[in-house]
Amino acid sequence: MKAKPVNHPAVEAFARQLAETTRDSVRATSVKVIESRKARLVDAFPDLEATRTQASQIKDFVLANISNLLSQLEMKCRLNGVQVHWAKDAESARKIILDICKEAAPDGGTIVKAKSMATEEIHLNKHLIDVGYNVVETDLGEFVVQIDNDTPSHIVAPIIHKNRREVAKSFEREGLGPYTESPEQLAAQARKHLRERFVEAKIGISGVNFAIAESGRLVLVENEGNSRLSTTAPDTHIAIMGLEKLLPSEADLPLFLKLLAGSATGQRMTVYTHLISGPRRKDEDDGPTAVHLVILDNGRSKVLNGPYKDILKCIRCGACSYVCPVYRQVSGHAYSHVYSGPLGAVLAPALEGIEALPELAKASTLCGACEEVCPVKIPIPRMLLQLRDEAMRKGVAENPIPWTLFTFGATSGLRWRTGLKMLPMARIAKHPLKDGWTEFRELPKKEGRDFRKWWNGRS
Ligand code: SF4
Repeated sequence: MKAKPVNHPAVEAFARQLAETTRDSVRATSVKVIESRKARLVDAFPDLEATRTQASQIKDFVLANISNLLSQLEMKCRLNGVQVHWAKDAESARKIILDICKEAAPDGGTIVKAKSMATEEIHLNKHLIDVGYNVVETDLGEFVVQIDNDTPSHIVAPIIHKNRREVAKSFEREGLGPYTESPEQLAAQARKHLRERFVEAKIGISGVNFAIAESGRLVLVENEGNSRLSTTAPDTHIAIMGLEKLLPSEADLPLFLKLLAGSATGQRMTVYTHLISGPRRKDEDDGPTAVHLVILDNGRSKVLNGPYKDILKCIRCGACSYVCPVYRQVSGHAYSHVYSGPLGAVLAPALEGIEALPELAKASTLCGACEEVCPVKIPIPRMLLQLRDEAMRKGVAENPIPWTLFTFGATSGLRWRTGLKMLPMARIAKHPLKDGWTEFRELPKKEGRDFRKWWNGRS
């Protein structure tokens, strides 16, 4: 029996009510990053195409050998003194992390968090706050998201949808300092507030950008220094990573560090790169006494064995969102998922099933820009088409009326010819396209001779 179609027009509905200021903020940042991205990457890699192919092949190798590489990572981490945990889904990941927190800080207290999409994916903050912990986001963007009770709208730039005046108002409202539109003063206000949280926290939680199987080292990149404080000031550091965040060897790291920084923020390198090998050693004064690594599956094994496995090559640079004409118009919240943009339009339904998010793959013009900028050459447009096909076959998405009409007309010569004759009327008559595509556009006027007449009458 076919599943009932799910009416989920979130992206379009969201776009229609989006404030112009939000659209402006998203567009301005996206354009800025994309412009600097190309210059940086061409500068860093004379043959960018060859570099992207190389990176893509390394990630192909990771996916093809993921079981062995994960075993190697676990063994090396344990040798380094890192305690490794496996979480099959969001619930088990939350339980593992809560158990660690209860042992490290049984009386509750402050937990400082560095930016991590994996923790967003498992909705960790709410879970820890509900049982009494004071969880504080320390990445500036994530901090704004938290005090505004908002959600991130881009995987790298969580408040791409806000401007500095909105941030200034939030800081003033929260008593962080007087209203100011100076970015330096806003950063200083946040710094003062967060420094005290770093001092009092017993636990720090972070994500992982890359985990190196050969050495067991966890790599984090950032620009603010908050990840360093979150992972080194508290006694316990908990790192959480999706199981695909692997690199086979240390030798692969320089390539990926440069590709990630160039694609994500248009930088040569991020300001900070952390290589975490384990807890504080006997002869060291600083650092956590316990380091835990939580390796998250949460649907990834299923994706690995299916048609969308290439999306697991993603290094979360966010370039596909910056360049996507749909994302720039609708912003990340329109995707109603932690993962937004072209990446999210594939990863979200791949992880959760097409039945849960049947319309997301339609949030694309299929222009191919996402694949062109992807540093690991993920064929996003192909997978979007595959998802659309899957949604139609399973009966969970509806064919839009214009396409149903087009199919009807294009599958019969007589209907096609009749339709062509009636086309000039489309400019004046009321029809389904009038409420959508042509709302802001003019249908072209018929000009010149009729092709069929010309063809039949040629000598
Ligand atoms: S799909 Fe490619 S471009 Fe998009 S975030 Fe992932 S690595 Fe970056």
